[in-house]
Amino acid sequence: MIVLASVISDFDVFFSKYAKDHNHRNLITHSIIPSIIIFVFGIIFYWPALIISGFSYFIHIFVDLFDWGTNVLYFPKKTFGPRFFISKEEEEKLPQYLDQYKSPASFFDFKYYKSKISVTIEILLFILMMILILLLAFEYILITLLYFLGLYFHLSRHFHLKKIESS
Ligand SMILES: [Zn+2]
Repeated sequence: MIVLASVISDFDVFFSKYAKDHNHRNLITHSIIPSIIIFVFGIIFYWPALIISGFSYFIHIFVDLFDWGTNVLYFPKKTFGPRFFISKEEEEKLPQYLDQYKSPASFFDFKYYKSKISVTIEILLFILMMILILLLAFEYILITLLYFLGLYFHLSRHFHLKKIESS
């Protein structure tokens, strides 16, 4: 349940069309509000796993602040965060940058995979995850299958986009 809470908010991509700029991170599911609600329910029902789920949901939103940013306070409808992957200039002229690609998603996808930092962090986190699970929670080892499922989804999308752009 705790692991589920940390990834569930990304399923809001299916509702992207309702979001500002069609960015799923502008939806309420990528704000701080759901983690607070989960946390409060965890306190009310005195359910430790639910309290920790509130935290894991929050950590996801927190991490999302650092790459592209997210609409963390929801109400001002504005994207927040250090947003290391996107410069001020790119942000202001984003439509022009997106127009350089056949699919707008390529702009974000290629930036991620071209960045040595993001790929290094990805590999380090993977190693850390495997060590922690092997040492502390071996009975949950099958949960890592979810990671490989996600990895497969992202890599296949990456190569799909590459094919589109080079065609
Ligand atoms: Zn996210």
